Amino acid sequence: MGHMIPEVLISEVGPRDGLQSVGRTMPTEAKKRWISALYQAGLREIEVASFVPATLLPQMADAAQVVMHALTLPGLTVMALVPNLRGAQAAIEAGVHKLTIPVSASAAHSLANVRKTREAMVQELRGIVALRDRLAPRVRIEANISTAFGCTLQGEVAEQDVVWLAGECIAAGVDESGLSDTTGMANPAQVRRLFNKVRAVIGARTGAAHMHNTRGLGLANCLAAYDVGVRTFDASLAGLGGCPYAPGASGNVVTEDLVFMFEAMGVTTGVDLQKLIAAREPLKAGLPGEPVYGMTPEAGLPRGFVQAVVHG
Ligand code: ZN
Repeated sequence: MGHMIPEVLISEVGPRDGLQSVGRTMPTEAKKRWISALYQAGLREIEVASFVPATLLPQMADAAQVVMHALTLPGLTVMALVPNLRGAQAAIEAGVHKLTIPVSASAAHSLANVRKTREAMVQELRGIVALRDRLAPRVRIEANISTAFGCTLQGEVAEQDVVWLAGECIAAGVDESGLSDTTGMANPAQVRRLFNKVRAVIGARTGAAHMHNTRGLGLANCLAAYDVGVRTFDASLAGLGGCPYAPGASGNVVTEDLVFMFEAMGVTTGVDLQKLIAAREPLKAGLPGEPVYGMTPEAGLPRGFVQAVVHG
C-alpha cells in the first residue's frame, strides 16, 4: 500500500518560474534549502532553474549549482527550462533529467520573447533533440506551448495554430508537448476543448497543463484539464511569480491549493500537505518580504482532514 503511484503528478515550478519573475535574487543556499523542503513534502518533479545568460537573468546565474544539489535528492526528476540549443547544452552538462522548452503558439509572442518565428523555434527543437540523442539519450524533452490560450500582444490565438504547433514539436522529436496559459486568459471550456484537440493529434505525448491564476481561474482550469485526461500539473509554491499585469493577483497556480483540491477529491498527489505548507518557511526566509499567495495555507486544513495516501 505504501508505494502506490500517485494519480496525478504535481510539477513544482516555483524555483524557476517563480524566482525568475521576482526582481531580487534568492541566495543559492536558500534555493537549496527550499528545494529540499519541497522534496521532503513529496514533490517528485521540480523545475529548479533556467539555463539562460546571467546577463539576462541574474536570478538564475547559479543554475548549475542548484541542479547539482537537486541531483542529490533520490527519485527526484530534476528539470530545467532552456530557450535554445546553448541552454540545452549547459543543462545537459549540468546533469538534468528533463528539459522544458517554451514554444509560443502566438507568432507575435514568439518574435518578442525569443526573437524567432515559430517555425525557427521548431527548427531549434530539432537541434536540441539531436544534441540530446548524441550526449544524453535518457534526458527527456518537453515542449511547452506557451500563449496557448491567448496572447497579450496578439490577442486571440487560433486553436488550429496550437494543435499544429504541438504536432510539429512531436514531429521534431520531443517526448511530450504541454499547454501553457502564459497570460492567464484561459477558461475551463477552452481548456477542455484544446486539450482534447491536441490529444487527438499527439495522443499520449500530451504533456502538462501549466495554468495561471491571473483572473482567478487557475484551479478551475486545472480541474477542466484533469477531466479530459491531463495528469501532470505545473504549480508554484505560494503562487510565487506574481503577474505584472494584474497587481495583487497570483501568477502561477498555487501548489498548496492545487494539492488540496486533488486530495480533497480523493485524487492522490503523493504530496504531504502539512509539509508542503511548511515549505513556505524556507521560501520566505530566502526572499524576506516577498508576497506569498494561497488560500489553503491562510485558512488551514479543515478540521479532521486526512490524506488518504502519502508517499511511501
Ligand atoms: Zn507560469
